[in-house]
Amino acid sequence: MSARAASAPTRRALLRAGLVLAAASPLLAPGRARAQVAASCVAPAAATPAQTAGPFFIAGAPQRGSLRDPDIAGEPFRLEGRLVDPRCGPVASARVDLWQADGRGAYDTQGFRLRGHLLTDAEGRFAFDTVRPGRYPGRTPHFHLRVTPARGATLTTQLYFPGEPGNARDSIFRPELLLAMPDAANGRAILVLG
Ligand code: FE
Repeated sequence: MSARAASAPTRRALLRAGLVLAAASPLLAPGRARAQVAASCVAPAAATPAQTAGPFFIAGAPQRGSLRDPDIAGEPFRLEGRLVDPRCGPVASARVDLWQADGRGAYDTQGFRLRGHLLTDAEGRFAFDTVRPGRYPGRTPHFHLRVTPARGATLTTQLYFPGEPGNARDSIFRPELLLAMPDAANGRAILVLG
């Protein structure tokens, strides 16, 4: 195979990728996510936007992937994520803290219910078995995450649910932070460190 023949498919693939990116930016219908955190990673990837931690972060949450204690209110939900650098390379051994409201919109402010942390694996992956958070006054449903890599700056952000009517009324909400949801009980996100 000549060098020219070998390079042609790659060039076409790059062009296709460019077209996909162009179509993904401002032309989507309302409610269709510009799922920057959720789609496959295309380098160079924009850093995931930082968001406020809000008033409910408590340091020292236990290391655990299952937050679904027996008496937790809310529908079971699995949050799967991947942490990458701007070249889409995996970021391993980073600490990922998750904290959230329960299905009724209530935080545990005394202990560590619906709070935990994990370390990303060699592929940058992490997963929490939890419940879908409810809305509370002024806020559309969201997860809070804080990512602390071994090197570099901490990222504090939030993740949101597509199709929530409260998204448009929440001044903190950003469509770039919408989860991809293959089904109602599973959300996925790719988080890009700056
Ligand atoms: Fe919150």
